[in-house]
Amino acid sequence: MQRRRVIRSIASLATLPLLAPLARSASQAINVVVPPLTKSRQAWRQLLPPMAYAVLFEEATERAFTSPLLAEHRDGTFICAACFLPLFAANAKFESGTGWPSFTRCIPGHCGFKADHRLAFEERTEYHCIRCGGHQGHVFDDGPPPLGKRWCNNGVALNFVPRGQALPAWRT
Ligand SMILES: [Zn+2]
Repeated sequence: MQRRRVIRSIASLATLPLLAPLARSASQAINVVVPPLTKSRQAWRQLLPPMAYAVLFEEATERAFTSPLLAEHRDGTFICAACFLPLFAANAKFESGTGWPSFTRCIPGHCGFKADHRLAFEERTEYHCIRCGGHQGHVFDDGPPPLGKRWCNNGVALNFVPRGQALPAWRT
């Protein structure tokens, strides 16, 4: 009963004109939509090193244990190597032992998904940068608690920006 009263009083507060702008900006922060970047494959091919292009736009997979990002343990942000949209916070990275940089979660709203049927024995969930569509990796259900997800990422599809260094402007 008391809890219901508290909820009701918060609800009535939110309707006060003074607080309405605050409530609106809070809901915008939750529902941020990243506008898509449309760029031709040819343009990406000219911008990116061959292996990064092959992974990001032809869904190739880098060889396991080859990414320098496996040894990256500093605080910072992992951004899409194509369009520079931030995809993972450093505190989401964990040691999976798989040979690919692995994360527990993507920054909310920054990854898109599709079913990948290329392996005959397993349907996998592909994920990509929501902005440029660049393929990043696959997400599996065998990650550590509490989320239980393992975002298995091609290192070549990411750049790392250490904390204290400015994030680059999104590529246009
Ligand atoms: Zn991108």
